[in-house]
Amino acid sequence: MHALLPRPILRLMLMAALLLSGMAAAQAGASGPVLAAKPAGKLARQPVHVHYDPPQNPAHADLHSALVRAQVLEQARKFFVAFRLPRPLTLRTGGCDGDSNAWYDEGEILLCYEYLADIFTNARRADRPDWVSERDAMGGPVLDVILHEGAHALFDLFDVPIFGREEDAADALGSYAMLRLFEPQSPGLLAGVVYSYLVDTGTKDLKRLKPAATATVSRHLLADAHSTPVQRIYNLVCLAHGSDEARHGEAARRVDLPQTRAEGCAAEFAQVQYAYRRLIEPHLDRAALLRLFPHLKTPVGKPAAR
Ligand SMILES: [Zn+2]
Repeated sequence: MHALLPRPILRLMLMAALLLSGMAAAQAGASGPVLAAKPAGKLARQPVHVHYDPPQNPAHADLHSALVRAQVLEQARKFFVAFRLPRPLTLRTGGCDGDSNAWYDEGEILLCYEYLADIFTNARRADRPDWVSERDAMGGPVLDVILHEGAHALFDLFDVPIFGREEDAADALGSYAMLRLFEPQSPGLLAGVVYSYLVDTGTKDLKRLKPAATATVSRHLLADAHSTPVQRIYNLVCLAHGSDEARHGEAARRVDLPQTRAEGCAAEFAQVQYAYRRLIEPHLDRAALLRLFPHLKTPVGKPAAR
């Protein structure tokens, strides 16, 4: 039986929702509606629906209530409506018969209660390392899964051509979005995502990555459509390092990012940014996005004055 207490779940969900709502916009004193009406161009912009399925498993009742009260999907929706979507998109939470997962399929992103419950449980583990806060251990992975599945959605809706594995491309776009949209909070969020992948490796020592990096990787993981958890850690940290070495230097040291990889990270970030600008940004109502994330006016790699 899941021993979930409503109050801490709600608190953590509120934190995740606060992150998704674009804290930077609120702190910068943005006025007026977050996404005020703006001419959508020649294409009619399609709606983004949100839906919280009633939980099949009674153990997820508190989680469901907390998600609804914190309006997690409504906050995520604000990001997706900044795009001129050619078809409707639905953001949904639901039970998945015990499968801890999330996916995008035919116009719908589904976040399983099982997956969100696991994030919550991991965030509250007694052996959570001190370099990741409970708040980031929750907010980072929640944001990461929404942006990763959101990337699959954008690839499909905008018919984006992809070389290589779509899962890696979704990781790249999701990571890029997290690093840019949530730049002020990105070191903490990054730590939260790294922590979640570290848990996925099954390592006994969550305080250090090195033992996991040398562990045997199962054939099941190697054959998967996704990169392995350790690869996903290094890919994310490399993009972060490449986006802003000063801001993410600590993360690179923490996971012992090899110098040979680090030397190419700025180029890796530039490659993802180029793809984003060519293939994704043309579908974006940039003015709407800037109202949500005003810090985006600052050039990449040049953090705003502290
Ligand atoms: Zn995926």
